[in-house]
Amino acid sequence: MIVGGGIAALEAVLALRELAPRAIRATVLAPEVEFTYRALAAVEPFGLGQMRRLPLAELAAEFSFTHVQDRLRSVEPQRRTLRTESGTDLTYGALLIATGARANPALSGALTYGGAQSNPRLAELLREIRLGEVGRVVFAVPEDTDWPLPLYELALLTATQASASSVAPEIALVTSEQAPLGMFGDRASAGIARLLESSGIEVATAATAIRADDEGLLLDDGTTVGADRVVALPRFDVPEIPGVPQAADGFIGTDRYMKVEGVSRVWAAGDATWFPIKQGGIAAQQADSAAHSIARLVDPAIELQAFRPVLRAALLTGKAPWYLRAAIGDRPRTSAAGTAPLWWPPAKVAGRHLGPYLARAAGVTGPHDRLPELADVETLEGEELAETEADHMEALGLALTAADADARWRDYDGALRWLEVAEKINLTLPPEYERKRQAWERRRKPSAAEVPRSSRAAPTATQ
Ligand SMILES: Cc1cc2nc3c(=O)[nH]c(=O)nc-3n(C[C@H](O)[C@H](O)[C@H](O)COP(=O)(O)OP(=O)(O)OC[C@H]3O[C@@H](n4cnc5c(N)ncnc54)[C@H](O)[C@@H]3O)c2cc1C
Repeated sequence: MIVGGGIAALEAVLALRELAPRAIRATVLAPEVEFTYRALAAVEPFGLGQMRRLPLAELAAEFSFTHVQDRLRSVEPQRRTLRTESGTDLTYGALLIATGARANPALSGALTYGGAQSNPRLAELLREIRLGEVGRVVFAVPEDTDWPLPLYELALLTATQASASSVAPEIALVTSEQAPLGMFGDRASAGIARLLESSGIEVATAATAIRADDEGLLLDDGTTVGADRVVALPRFDVPEIPGVPQAADGFIGTDRYMKVEGVSRVWAAGDATWFPIKQGGIAAQQADSAAHSIARLVDPAIELQAFRPVLRAALLTGKAPWYLRAAIGDRPRTSAAGTAPLWWPPAKVAGRHLGPYLARAAGVTGPHDRLPELADVETLEGEELAETEADHMEALGLALTAADADARWRDYDGALRWLEVAEKINLTLPPEYERKRQAWERRRKPSAAEVPRSSRAAPTATQ
């Protein structure tokens, strides 16, 4: 029984299918009907693409799991039973809790960006920026934020978009970190510092923000960083799950195989767990560890796989994305950063199974016997790096040119397929191509499968 319909849950489904395809029947208990790719939430207000959504019913058919559309209310581990919000009792052989974390405002007075639900407020801010109504925006990483990357992304995307307008605001990033994205190690952090500088973003590190008000962002040393608008990341907690031991703020403690401490046959993975970095790639690695441990219940030959976190992140910049990688706990850290992909396929969320699946399955098609696994790519330097970056730009340029050519011939399906290729190469589309995509989607003729039954021509006798 897998509770949740997010990244950790889906990675666990794919891993279990790989490890014990016949011996384990998975049920996914999740309230929604679609899997949404939250890590790409910010592309929508910037007009750089669409957040990917996959119907859970299609995934259930493809990967042979049952989807129960409900929410977990409580667990009775001794009886291996859980109760849903609608009052149904469900039994399980093994339970994986992957319910994610709840985002709460961390800085009063700021626009808290917690994903797609914050997009209307972000879109409004971008509109005000375009109209020249905002002179200075400050992006603030609150104290104790262990995954600040989404805020860097917002600052860079805002700067890229604003640079195209005649009345660009000043943009600053104020962070409690000692160095920009310092968690990725010195080399990567130095690269990010250069990127921010070249994007015209002013940076203040080791600064503790208290709150935002009309003047700007108030820091704990009594100074104020002037701002018309402040954007901040949330603070997370996990709601109570009766029957499951939870620590401070509701996070669930596990061992290194993601087994929940103090109860039998219960595992946890993802943002709901004790591990401080709330990141999709990490959630997927935890799900893989849990899946190995669960699959071992039915096949003792399966080796346990301890959770050994490696951070892999793709930072959207509005131009070519930056790839960052670091193994946590390594001294010195295996730090790498640059526009050349550091893993393949270069998915935004680097899940071992989910990454390749999402990169390939923009439109989910028939069953795959075996999906390739995500693999790290060697770090490139000097000429090799420059060459790879040039190759990247050339491949992207070719895909976009091919899309334009197909569209000129009114082959909008072909043009849209080329845009998908471009999106896989670059994770996002240049804004003018996102606008073209919307126009081409309107112009293309729907395929027979998409035409509602009632409006299809009735077959004639000769057909
Ligand atoms: C704006 C933004 C950008 C990000 N960028 C990146 C990035 O570039 N790379 C990256 O790796 N990560 C990124 N992340 C983080 C990443 O999205 C999360 O770490 C990841 O989604 C966590 O996965 P999860 O499965 O633990 O939780 P979620 O993906 O949040 O899924 C939780 C699931 O549990 C369900 N659920 C909740 N309560 C219950 C219940 N009681 N019963 C049943 N189901 C329940 C929810 O409906 C949901 O389906 C980003 C996050 C945000 C918000």
